[in-house]
Amino acid sequence: QPVVAVVGRPNVGKSTLVNRILGRREAVVQDVPGVTRDRVAYDALWNGRRFTVVDTGGWEPDARGLQAEVAAQAELAMSTADVVLLVVDATVGATTTDEAVARVLRRSNRPVLLIANKVDDERLMADVAALWSLGLGEPYPVSGLHGRGSGDLLDAVLKALPETPREAVGASGGPRRVALVGKPNVGKSSLLNRLTGEQRSVVDEVAGTTVDPVDSLVELDDETWRLVDTAGLRKRVRTASGTEYYASLRTRAAIEAAEVAIVLIDASEPLTEQDLRVISMVVDSGRALVLAYNKWDLVDEDRRYQLNKEIDRELVRVRWAERVNVSARTGRAVAKLAPALRTALESWDRRVPTGQLNAWLNELVAATPPPVRGGKQPKVLFATQAQTRPPTIVLFTTGFLEAGYRRFVERKFRETFGFTGSPVRISVRVRE
Ligand code: GDP
Repeated sequence: QPVVAVVGRPNVGKSTLVNRILGRREAVVQDVPGVTRDRVAYDALWNGRRFTVVDTGGWEPDARGLQAEVAAQAELAMSTADVVLLVVDATVGATTTDEAVARVLRRSNRPVLLIANKVDDERLMADVAALWSLGLGEPYPVSGLHGRGSGDLLDAVLKALPETPREAVGASGGPRRVALVGKPNVGKSSLLNRLTGEQRSVVDEVAGTTVDPVDSLVELDDETWRLVDTAGLRKRVRTASGTEYYASLRTRAAIEAAEVAIVLIDASEPLTEQDLRVISMVVDSGRALVLAYNKWDLVDEDRRYQLNKEIDRELVRVRWAERVNVSARTGRAVAKLAPALRTALESWDRRVPTGQLNAWLNELVAATPPPVRGGKQPKVLFATQAQTRPPTIVLFTTGFLEAGYRRFVERKFRETFGFTGSPVRISVRVRE
């Protein structure tokens, strides 16, 4: 999701303008206690495009003096944003501070739009024209208060934004796509037969090619699902040509074609490297995950004890995935698969609004700042959920964050927001 930074002196009407851009949707968040008013990020939506608006705060002179502070804010805006809006008070005209920041912004290779605010009245247009002197091109006259000109401004912002990345996988519509994966002999075919066999008439085959039906449609829990790439499972060709390499390619292809994967694990035997590899494939490709422990009919007290130990030891990485203990043979708990899939996909599709995310993040970082590296304390400036499918959080920082701290952030994020069944990515954008 692209980022638009708003910079300007105090009292030029930045906040009013930001509220305009947001349609006042999230503006309340800034009143959450403990949230620094320093920099606040919000979600905005205009003509179907989403972007994040960052209010970089006023330039209160600090120990370094006003000019230094102004320059720092402008540099920050340039390094974190895709588009910078410089807001100037048209009734005051360009001050030396405005000129200083314009100088910094002119060096930027990012698009900069000059906003002449407080143009509540046609008579101010001469003052607006005077702002050409800042060397940032044509000023956009707006009235944050009355909303005048903000539509044109937003159109200009959209035009300046980079192309938004397409929504990662699977434009919605049609049944959700599920991969049934796991090492050989865990019971994939058996489970497929169980899922399709119980409801012969509903089951349909979807032609991938005319000769070879690739996917199967099944009705589970009143919903139709598409099990992807089940041709191999049905025909049992896989055992004939079943080199591990081939099996692994097939598994990868199925995962890539799916939105969520059921990884089958043989509960009656110790967890193997191969199981972990399949799980990693799902997580690394960013798909939602349900763990199904199959052959539960063979699990006794002893084995269950071992299994819990294995889970604690080996599956920490996917603690967030739901586990269902099933038996393809007896049909045990197979009905629990659909609700688990649904939960996982809801998480996978979910988006935390930027205001909410930053309120949480500010508190977290205040309580536990990132560890000092090379004598410097990296600051976490703000965050935005740049993507869903899988949920991807981008942290904007002033320095590199250690992997340990990123994991900490993810763990805390899940404690607050959940996201059962979906991987969550935390990425870091360091300002230059
Ligand atoms: P695939 O290679 O993953 O497709 O595994 P299959 O479905 O071919 O199953 C491998 C073997 O495990 C077969 O002998 C199945 O009968 C057996 N099997 C599958 N599911 C279960 C189960 O839930 N319980 C038991 N006891 N055996 C199972």
